[in-house]
Amino acid sequence: MIIYNILDVGAKCSNNCRLCRYRYGNKKSFDEIKEIIGSFSSKDNLKIMGGEPALRKDIIDIVEYAKKQGFKRIMLHTNGKMLSYENFTSKVTKAGAYLFEIKLFGPNKEMNDRICEAESFEHTLKGVEVLRKIHNLNEMSKTAFIDIIVPIYKENFEHLHNIVAVLEPHNIDRFTFVLTDTEILMSQVVGQLKNAIDSAIESKIWPFSEGVPLCMMQGYEYHISEIYYPASRKMTKISVCKKCIYSPVCEGVDEEYLKKNGQEEFSAVKESRHVKDILNLKNEKT
Ligand code: SF4
Repeated sequence: MIIYNILDVGAKCSNNCRLCRYRYGNKKSFDEIKEIIGSFSSKDNLKIMGGEPALRKDIIDIVEYAKKQGFKRIMLHTNGKMLSYENFTSKVTKAGAYLFEIKLFGPNKEMNDRICEAESFEHTLKGVEVLRKIHNLNEMSKTAFIDIIVPIYKENFEHLHNIVAVLEPHNIDRFTFVLTDTEILMSQVVGQLKNAIDSAIESKIWPFSEGVPLCMMQGYEYHISEIYYPASRKMTKISVCKKCIYSPVCEGVDEEYLKKNGQEEFSAVKESRHVKDILNLKNEKT
């Protein structure tokens, strides 16, 4: 399992997404950032986050510094808008960032920009295009890796497969659909989520879902992010988990979701032909 050291560089975001906890940023000085980088015991993988990290004037210096410290995989978690400027994208890739998590909220400008409360869709899409073009121009030895992060909201959950269709021509490496909004029930979302996963697979793009436990995603177990990576939010086990065959590999359900919606939707998985593989996979990854 590739575990990333998380470097939160602050910087207020240029989007204003309703449920984002990080949009205001908590800007750190370059010296503070160097100190944080120096404190990481492993120097393999680094994920740079914000707010919007690409809005920092010294972001190229930060990436270069991390590269000099020996980080092999440097990832930028971004709304993708700054990537629409070729000069910026060329510099940041040359400095050493080649993995990009880019957030997108809808298959068109109207839906996307309504959710993130900013002019965003066209810039983000352009950013993806430029990233691919710059990669070709720079003849980088590594291929830029693009993971499109799709936060699932009540406004977009019926359009996840459309987002896949819009992005598919851009040579995307991965989609990660993240259940973000507790205003919708998981049982409402899973059908659409599975459709989107099927669409991505048909397009030969590896899809992940995050925030929906195995009991709701039977048949799609290999696409659950939490099998490969630690959960990004506080999870808790519920009463039915005691009888579930997936309990040894599952951290449970998002606490915020349970507070809002209760536990009636969930039931223990009693048998699955995938269970042995999933247990092995999780054990290999820990
Ligand atoms: S352990 Fe609990 S939350 Fe996880 S899959 Fe089983 S029933 Fe669902």
